[in-house]
Amino acid sequence: MSVEQVPFITLNRFEDGFRDTFLEGVAKLFDNTQFVGGPVVGEVEQKLSKQTGAKYVVGCANGTDAIQIALRAVGVDKNDVVLVPDMTFWATFEAVVNVGANPATVDVNRETLHWDVETFTSAIEKFKPKAAIMVHLYGWGCPDTMLIRKAAKDAGVILIEDGAQCYGTKVDGESILGSAYISTTSFYPAKVLGASGDAGAIFTNDEKLSVVCRQLVNHGRTDHYSHGLIGWNSRIGAYESLFLNLSLDHIDARLESRRKAVDYYVKHLEGLPLKIVTSKDHVHENGYCSVGLIDPALRPALIESLKAAKVGYGTIYPGAMSLQSGAKDHLVGKIDFGNAHYISQAVLNLPCFAYITEEELKYVVDVVKKHFQK
Ligand SMILES: *Cc1c(COP(=O)(O)O)cnc(C)c1O
Repeated sequence: MSVEQVPFITLNRFEDGFRDTFLEGVAKLFDNTQFVGGPVVGEVEQKLSKQTGAKYVVGCANGTDAIQIALRAVGVDKNDVVLVPDMTFWATFEAVVNVGANPATVDVNRETLHWDVETFTSAIEKFKPKAAIMVHLYGWGCPDTMLIRKAAKDAGVILIEDGAQCYGTKVDGESILGSAYISTTSFYPAKVLGASGDAGAIFTNDEKLSVVCRQLVNHGRTDHYSHGLIGWNSRIGAYESLFLNLSLDHIDARLESRRKAVDYYVKHLEGLPLKIVTSKDHVHENGYCSVGLIDPALRPALIESLKAAKVGYGTIYPGAMSLQSGAKDHLVGKIDFGNAHYISQAVLNLPCFAYITEEELKYVVDVVKKHFQK
């Protein structure tokens, strides 16, 4: 069958038998009225721990809650300053405000699209923050991860890592989620490791932190009707846990297929005004998305060609955090070189999802090439 359109992402590609296995599992959970909690939650937490190398994993309701829980667990409190990248998903900024703290945005590097240690260090001097949230975007890892971890430690700044997009990504051979002091992820269905609904998790190697996280996700419970903390209801659902559990058995194949798609674009779109960029060599990305940069003046016409050929696209993300209208009442300061804003105008993401076919990739590449031949 010839390809006539390619979506930006689709959630309908699963391994043979996945659907039936999941639905059989759902029927069992239903019959046992296991809707929240139960053994399936412990099973998926254990599997996540084994795969990432993080000693403790606490499942929760979504990736935004995971950040909020991590912030609270490390002791971020009212009016504390927390650094966040100027280029990230809004949830990172939101989480800081939701725990009563004050975000300061720190610009990213125009080339690596992530924080660099020099800017990070100057932000620590300028804002004297209690904590910082390093974000790993696009399925890459921040190339300065190890340097930033050390700089934060040396300065006594608590570092939380928002790994909503980096399940399976490694820096210097180490799982980002597993080697961080405390990290978080999202299992929103469109992420690399998606669930059958909203879900998230917190990862840490610190036992005490893990205990506090577990209390915070469940009403600050110390036992059933004793509440030692003001927490949330951020429990992970049983169906979501089952779905994740089954997905984890296929994660290697899914990531491999995504990485192949990213490589395909790199290989076949060389030398065009849309420059496909990837992570640095010491980062092993998970293939979450393809990232292209193009002169902002040329982007609208390319988007028109993609639309006309029914090729989906993304602009992750279309605006800097410090420029969001919701930011102005909360932002306590910023380091702004204009990089996040530039990236938001220059970025273009091509279709990328698990089990995208070579025919689909070729279709996308042909549309892009043809556009620039005009
Ligand atoms: C998706 C995402 C989140 C939020 O996760 P939800 O599960 O949607 O709450 C936070 N940070 C980043 C970088 C994300 O991509």
